Amino acid sequence: MVLISEVAENIYEIQPGGNELDRFPLSTVYLVVDEKSALVETGCPAQISDTMAAVNGLGHDIRDLSYIIPTHVHIDHGGAAGHFAQLLPHAQVVTHPKAARLFSDPIILDKLMQGFLRTFGEDAKQRFGGVIPVPEESFKFVEDGDHIYLGNRALQVIHTPGHDPNHLCFMDTQTNGLFCGDALGSYYTEIDVTMPSSAPMTDPYVTLQSIAKLQELNSEIIFFSHGRATDWASEIIQRFKEDTRECTEVALKAYETGETQETIVQQLVDVLAKDSDKARGDLLAWPYFVSTLVEGYRQYFNSSI
Ligand SMILES: [Zn+2]
Repeated sequence: MVLISEVAENIYEIQPGGNELDRFPLSTVYLVVDEKSALVETGCPAQISDTMAAVNGLGHDIRDLSYIIPTHVHIDHGGAAGHFAQLLPHAQVVTHPKAARLFSDPIILDKLMQGFLRTFGEDAKQRFGGVIPVPEESFKFVEDGDHIYLGNRALQVIHTPGHDPNHLCFMDTQTNGLFCGDALGSYYTEIDVTMPSSAPMTDPYVTLQSIAKLQELNSEIIFFSHGRATDWASEIIQRFKEDTRECTEVALKAYETGETQETIVQQLVDVLAKDSDKARGDLLAWPYFVSTLVEGYRQYFNSSI
């Protein structure tokens, strides 16, 4: 059961149902309505019917969408891009030019799916759906500093590598709101935990540079893809910066001294859930804490130490 709310003027949050940790990695999808309308994030393929019902239920014909805007190619953010391109042949799929092959080459898409299965379990394909390529003619390529003009508002493109080399964030010029994708990480409102965006293939130091770049924008709202929209933007970005830096330092030291995985998990949970026993318990019980965050640091530091 999706939850739909207008979180800023003509920006609608379409949030998968269930508790925040349980529904991960399904992502929140945002509908931005103007003379031209856009979907920011596509979610997993399994989310498509809910997203279409939500858009139509809000009184907007999904066939009128002009832009499909995944922040990056990971299945939970851009996995439905090929399906939307097929369903909406007039819409353009907005990406960084270097991400085009990742979205359109079936062999690369298959490799991405294999990585997704390693992280989220062998049954992930059934739970989250299969991907199909985006046809070349559907792409609209954008780079850092470009604007996607929708009518009264534009979305400014911010290249934010680290979590993924071609990751893009988008700043809505009308609300000063930031669609952050995975560039900051996930924010779990229910347990008040910031989860750094470390995952397999993530560079934590480049991530920190991108967080600093986002901080300079002075956004007033953050539209989280894993989590909800929040209006205490500067505080939450500062928290992500500090927690990501601290987790990275903890992981570096732990891998240098050869700590066990169990100790590393405890140390990272200590950083992220300092003040709450409930949050500690929830993080320790969360099945993806190791396969995303811990495995991300392990791969990065094992290849760089
Ligand atoms: Zn991602």
